[in-house]
Amino acid sequence: MKKILLINPWIYDFAAFDLWSKPLGLLYVGAMLRRFGFEIYLIDCLDRHQPGAEGKSKKFGTGKYRRTIVEKPKILSHIPRHWARYGISEERFVELLHSVPRPDAVLVTSIMTYWYPGVKRAVQLVREHLGPVPTILGGIYATLLPDHARKVINPDYIITGPGEIKTLLLLSELFDIPIDRSKLPKNLDEYPFPAFDMYRHHDYMVILTSRGCPFNCSFCAQRLISMPYTRRSVENVLEEFEYHHKKFGVVDFAFYDDALFLHKEKHIIPILRGILKRGLKLRLHTPNGLFARLVDPQLAELMFAAGVKTVRLSFETANESRRQQMSMKVSNADLVRAIRTLERAGYRRSEIDVYVMMGLPGQPLSEVEESIRFVHSL
Ligand code: SF4
Repeated sequence: MKKILLINPWIYDFAAFDLWSKPLGLLYVGAMLRRFGFEIYLIDCLDRHQPGAEGKSKKFGTGKYRRTIVEKPKILSHIPRHWARYGISEERFVELLHSVPRPDAVLVTSIMTYWYPGVKRAVQLVREHLGPVPTILGGIYATLLPDHARKVINPDYIITGPGEIKTLLLLSELFDIPIDRSKLPKNLDEYPFPAFDMYRHHDYMVILTSRGCPFNCSFCAQRLISMPYTRRSVENVLEEFEYHHKKFGVVDFAFYDDALFLHKEKHIIPILRGILKRGLKLRLHTPNGLFARLVDPQLAELMFAAGVKTVRLSFETANESRRQQMSMKVSNADLVRAIRTLERAGYRRSEIDVYVMMGLPGQPLSEVEESIRFVHSL
C-alpha cells in the first residue's frame, strides 16, 4: 500500500489567528486517496494541539497560533511590524517527518499566495530530511500562481483547482496503480467526508455544503479556484454534521461556502431545519461573507434557532457606484434591512460583523473610512 504524507505548511505574515482555519481541500484529497487504497498521514503545521504549539484558546474553538519572529522579506522592510512564522516549530516539523513511515509521495497544500514562504520551507525540509520523494503541490497559491510556484518552490508536480480526482489520477499514473474510473464520484454527495480523523484533538470543524459561486465579483478569485457552482444534497450535509458531532463531540462548525444562502429555500433553510429536527446542539459560524440581500425574517429566525452564532455579512464598500462596477450582490439598503431583520430574530449587534474592503484599485482611503462610518451608523 502506497503511503502519502499530507502537509499543511506554516503561515508567514505580520499577523495570524486561528479563526476556524483547516486545510479542507487537503483533507478531502486525503479522504479520496484513502478510499482508493492509499495510506495517508498528516502534518498540519497550524495544528494548535501539537506539543509546543499550544496558543491561547478563545471563543468557539478559535485561538492563537504559536508565533516565531523571523527575518522580514526585503520588499516589506519599510513596514514597522514584526514578520513571523505561525505554527509548530521547525524542530517539531522535522520530528514529525521522522515519526511517520517513509512516504512514497508528499502532498503539500497552499493557501494565500503571499504565504508561499511557508510552502517553500516545508518542501525544503522534506527534501533535506526525506531525500528524493515526489512532491506534489496543490491549493490556492499553486492554482493562482503556478509559474511562480514552479520557479520558487520547484515541486515535482503541481495540481491546480479542485484536487481530489486530479491527485488520485496522478498518483495512479506515478505508481502504476490502476484506478477503477467507474468508482470516481459523479457528484458532491459521492465524495467521502474530509479526513478530520487525522487530528487527535478537535476544537471545531469546517464544512463545505456547496462549491463555487455563480457570481463574478471583479475582486474575487473563486472562479479560478473552484468548480462551477454545485451543491451537496441537504441530507448528505446533515449526515456529515451528525457524523462528526457524534464521533468527535464537536459543536462548533464553520461554513466555508462562498454562496451559502443561494437557492436558500432548497439549501440552507432545509439544512437549518434538519439540524433542529435531528436535535443537534451546534454552534455555527459563517466566516465567509453572507449575502445580506437574501436575509429575510424566515431565514434569520431559523439561523437564530439552529445556533448560527457568528454572522458575517459581505458589504465591501458603502460607495454605490464603485460597488456597481465590481459586484451587484448587495446595496446599502440591503445591509440596513438585513441587520434590522437579524436583530428582530434575536441577534445582538455584537454577534453581527460586516466585511468592508480596502485597497481596491483606485480606492481612496476616505472611501474606506466612509464605509466604516456607514456600518457603525447602523
Ligand atoms: S459573491 Fe462572493 S464568492 Fe461569489 S464572486 Fe462575489 S465575492 Fe466571490
